[in-house]
Amino acid sequence: MSDRGTPGKASSSEEEYFVREDAEKKRRIALQAKKEKEAAELKRLKDLHWMHCPKCGMQMQEIQYRGVDVDVCFSCNGIFLDAGEIEHIEKPESRGVMSSILNWFKLETKKPV
Ligand SMILES: [Zn+2]
Repeated sequence: MSDRGTPGKASSSEEEYFVREDAEKKRRIALQAKKEKEAAELKRLKDLHWMHCPKCGMQMQEIQYRGVDVDVCFSCNGIFLDAGEIEHIEKPESRGVMSSILNWFKLETKKPV
């Protein structure tokens, strides 16, 4: 049986079109909700881990030395460099920066407690 041609009543192909449109709209809404949830989760993780040592979890401190921002964990003596800072340290004009930074820790660990 076909509704085609009946005034005021949608044909099965029209009904299918609207169902598909509705499903597509709901899919877009769900996808948007998923993206928002993922963004919220990424923000939550960033807030939770920001400037915390990846090894021991303690708060890290930023030390600026000769144009390099070094994140240092004074709990386990871990050192974290941001993206691009290794390349900066490798430059001839930055020679000695890393060994200077490492020397701070050598002095730190030699100190009697
Ligand atoms: Zn640490």
